[in-house]
Amino acid sequence: MTFDIKILGCNSASFAFGRHHTAQLINNNQNLFLVDCGEATQIQLLRHQVRHSRIDHIFISHLHGDHYLGLIGLVFTFHLQGRSDDLHIYGPAGLDEIITIQLKYSESRLNYPIHFHLIKENDQLLFENDDIQVSTVQMNHRIPCYGFIFEEKKRKFKLNRELLPATLTRDQLLELKEGNDIVDAEGTVWINSILTTPPHEPRKYVYCADTRVLPDEIPQLVGANLLYHEATFTNDMQARAETTFHTTAEEAGMFAARHNVKQLIIGHFSSRYFDLNPFLKEARQTFQQTVLAVEGQTYDVLPVHPLKTKEQNAEISISR
Ligand SMILES: [Zn+2]
Ligand SMILES: [Zn+2]
Repeated sequence: MTFDIKILGCNSASFAFGRHHTAQLINNNQNLFLVDCGEATQIQLLRHQVRHSRIDHIFISHLHGDHYLGLIGLVFTFHLQGRSDDLHIYGPAGLDEIITIQLKYSESRLNYPIHFHLIKENDQLLFENDDIQVSTVQMNHRIPCYGFIFEEKKRKFKLNRELLPATLTRDQLLELKEGNDIVDAEGTVWINSILTTPPHEPRKYVYCADTRVLPDEIPQLVGANLLYHEATFTNDMQARAETTFHTTAEEAGMFAARHNVKQLIIGHFSSRYFDLNPFLKEARQTFQQTVLAVEGQTYDVLPVHPLKTKEQNAEISISR
């Protein structure tokens, strides 16, 4: 089942060196979720050939402009394109006001409904369907900011139909799907491990931006398959990271290691940096399985530790 992350924007406050404000697209079993919606998000969706009409859920981490200024544009484009499906927007208090006041003064009446879901607290369940659930994790930033945890639900065991005895009842089949052995009317024990294939372990993706590195262990994050963490600065700017409530690449790596995640993507780079290789080197000193967020690139949420590919280990060369 598909579970991947496409980076649409990986820069912080200003556009620089071809990098845009924060946005990323999560694809879980063909359900598309947009996380943050910086100013160029619409353009990036077009550039990377995403059919944005399929986005029904948008999650906004906080109300700094580099994370939501593209939202009203996208909302209006949906309208111009004749969208009729409901749109769900999850974000901090005030986001609903910001969007509705712009619609009010442009006398725009959208031809589709928007449902605002306000984020109020840590560990708040925001969304769930049969495959996945999305909940919040509180960040430590200058204004209220939340990360998001996308966690697959445990799936049922898959029946190996060709091996199933025809005599089993519907209830017995349901028991097998739960992973249990069964005993039929004649007293025969049917071993689950022969008749079914177990589901893969549920995968977890965690998005953390923007934040000072969090000092304590956060139980919900431990063992995540993939963590995106902001790394606005390199270590030489530690003092600035502290005063602006951001994180350095080294700190992001330490945070990933402390939570025993399987892979780390770092992003939200300050526009003062042209070359991002120092970020990669720094983070890998504390967490080897780190990759840089690269716009347009898709990252699978892998069930196991990713193999170190040549591409991931290569230094990124950027031309001006
Ligand atoms: Zn930001
Ligand atoms: Zn911010």
